[in-house]
Amino acid sequence: MFKKILIANRGEIALRVIIACRELGIKTVAVYSEADENSLHVRFADEDVCIGPARSADSYLNVPAIISAAEITGADAIHPGYGFLSESAYLAEVCEACHIRFIGPDPNVIKLMGDKSRARRAMKKAGLPMLPGSDGPIDGEEKALKIAKEIGYPVIVKAVAGGGGRGMRVVRSASELGNALRTAQREAEAAFGNGSVYIEKYLENPRHIEFQILGDHHGNVVHLGERECSIQRRHQKLVEESPSPALTDKVRRKMGSLVVDAARAVQYTNAGTFEFLMDGEGKFYFMEANTRLQVEHPVTEWVTGIDIVKEQIRIAAGERLSFKQSEVTFSGHSIECRINAEDPDTFAPSPGVIHAFSVPGGPGVRVDTFAHAECTVSPYYDSMIAKIIVHGRDRAEAIARMRRTLEMTVVEGIKTSVPLHLRILAEKDFAAGKLSTGFMDRFATAPKGSSVSEKTA
Ligand code: ADP
Repeated sequence: MFKKILIANRGEIALRVIIACRELGIKTVAVYSEADENSLHVRFADEDVCIGPARSADSYLNVPAIISAAEITGADAIHPGYGFLSESAYLAEVCEACHIRFIGPDPNVIKLMGDKSRARRAMKKAGLPMLPGSDGPIDGEEKALKIAKEIGYPVIVKAVAGGGGRGMRVVRSASELGNALRTAQREAEAAFGNGSVYIEKYLENPRHIEFQILGDHHGNVVHLGERECSIQRRHQKLVEESPSPALTDKVRRKMGSLVVDAARAVQYTNAGTFEFLMDGEGKFYFMEANTRLQVEHPVTEWVTGIDIVKEQIRIAAGERLSFKQSEVTFSGHSIECRINAEDPDTFAPSPGVIHAFSVPGGPGVRVDTFAHAECTVSPYYDSMIAKIIVHGRDRAEAIARMRRTLEMTVVEGIKTSVPLHLRILAEKDFAAGKLSTGFMDRFATAPKGSSVSEKTA
């Protein structure tokens, strides 16, 4: 087993990895930017190294600085968390060359899945159901028009290197396609340094359902069931839950085993998430695979009792999975709300100093956060300040638990999305499990303050 792990990340996920390491008796190294000197992940790590100025490109994305920090401190593995370098095949390769274990899949698998168009082809070959679309990147308007005509409008233009909902354009008619293509290419070039795009059929109001898998280096692959992440704004998840209210045991078993077979086909190791869209008839279509830990992993941990971060570490150290598929059982219902530092009505970012921070505990509540009173929410990084996760015997209990937790949450000094979450939970459709990626459209013009007390955030 590793003696020391460097965590190439910040915020709640750096803390989450430290928690797993402490429980496993592994020492930790925090890296931090000049803006994060006083952060909890620095305080709780055994050692810490400053890797550069606040700007991510100069610090958390700085591979030479991170590798040097690992070498100076003698870390034998790097956990990348999510975001930043978590899906960087380059970091994984440099780690390999420097004899530092990268806690994630093999660089070749990261590369394959990081090219969403190649991933589509590979996963189709491996037996996953696919939306009709282009077989590879699109290299001209004429070809795009031809493919779009074949599959039928609406279509969606997506960045091959996409992530975080960027570089995507929905196209409803041929006259819009040329423009959409150029905008998506430009956006993708700016965001990912790669302007390649592909086309697939656009589904109206689907559900987003994803499967969590774990694979070891001895050929064992298991799935840990699904998460439903249909509550999104601008293709970014806001609320996630497990199980999905739309899945039966039979469908879970069938989809789970398809995903496990597909993962095996590419010799997938470590943790991964296979994302699907589900249409109104219950049909699934593969969208992409994320080769890292996901923000929403806690809901899966809670219904399965499996600590995904510890499993990632054990797998990277060469251990066998300690359980079989038949030993993975699901209990109760778990929901996560992502609490962002933003105006709940306009969604404008709201960085600043938090003066008071309190989330009630009580049965079935887990809070993953870096926030505390007098901490600073930096404008340089992602706006998520906390994840509130609840578990109940059933979905209704989980919803009631989340509502009372949010109602009693106090964050003073900055605005947060807590009131928005309360509005979501109060919707009849949410209670009825009638979810879709179009769910949030109803809040587009929500009146200020509506039914929720401003006191809570
Ligand atoms: P990213 O990697 O940027 O997160 P994804 O491919 O995972 O992009 O898609 C993110 C979200 O975009 C999905 O959850 C869904 O809401 C929407 N989306 C993507 N592709 C389609 C599609 N073909 N039809 C309808 N919605 C889509």
